[in-house]
Amino acid sequence: MKLGIDGKWALVCAASKGLGRGCAQALVEEGVNVVITARGEAALLQTAAELRAVNPMVQVIPVPGDITQASDRARALAACPQVDILVNNAGGPPTGDFRSWTRDTWIAALEQNMLTPIDLIKAVVDPMADRGFGRIVNITSMAVKAPIDILGLSNGARTGLTGFVAGLARNPALASRNVTINNLLPGMFDTDRLRGTLADWASRSGRPVEEIADLRRQSTPAHRFGTPQEFGAVCAFVCSAHAGYINGQNILLDGGGYPGTF
Ligand code: NAP
Repeated sequence: MKLGIDGKWALVCAASKGLGRGCAQALVEEGVNVVITARGEAALLQTAAELRAVNPMVQVIPVPGDITQASDRARALAACPQVDILVNNAGGPPTGDFRSWTRDTWIAALEQNMLTPIDLIKAVVDPMADRGFGRIVNITSMAVKAPIDILGLSNGARTGLTGFVAGLARNPALASRNVTINNLLPGMFDTDRLRGTLADWASRSGRPVEEIADLRRQSTPAHRFGTPQEFGAVCAFVCSAHAGYINGQNILLDGGGYPGTF
């Protein structure tokens, strides 16, 4: 299936590694030009070079910077001739006990996982509607649907974003102009972030990290972690010309881990 988005421009945030990179690569394979961001410049430039090798026909523009900072967001937006596709992503907040979190801890989580994506949506959504095409994908977490106790900052901030998006996606001035906003909810994907969370669980339980990783793999019906490539392929489809009628959805990618019927 051709996705019908070749020649479009995407801003993929936090994309030097992991799920963001998986999304950028899947879009590049479909002929989409991408602006990619991350704080670490060396890894970002390396990823940009690898993406260009995947598809030499597209433009890949790396913009180093912290997407939670307004000035860095502005530079990323300015580097993209037009944003047809926006993939919102950033690191996840730290795990921990809510008793140790201060107001500043909460504000940082809200900035990262709620206010930054909302600010970027605000910057791109009306021009998308004017052009009659727009795809916005927010990378959130399975924790929005099935909260995890030590990920309270993530549970809280991402649920705030999810509630906001649920309303905005259904705005007829956007939806009737072929602008969609959806959230992708990763379960456990084999990335640096997951490896950090597993190490955290291991140190809390005093058990070896490989034992914890095996337990987590076995806890999903798929008996494995997902890959960034699988995640990116779903993102590219949700951003495709065919997906204009998928809007305001929370799409769980968890190997069947969530136990509910709906
Ligand atoms: P990852 O492998 O650690 O990759 C994170 C990427 O984001 C890196 O490229 C990183 O580069 C970049 N980044 C982080 N903070 C940034 C910032 N403030 N500004 C710009 N770039 C930033 O993480 P991942 O597993 O792909 O996770 C992506 C998101 O999905 C996170 O929010 C995570 O919590 C969530 N999630 C992941 C899983 C999973 O199983 N992997 C499950 C549920 C939710 P720099 O560090 O150089 O900036």
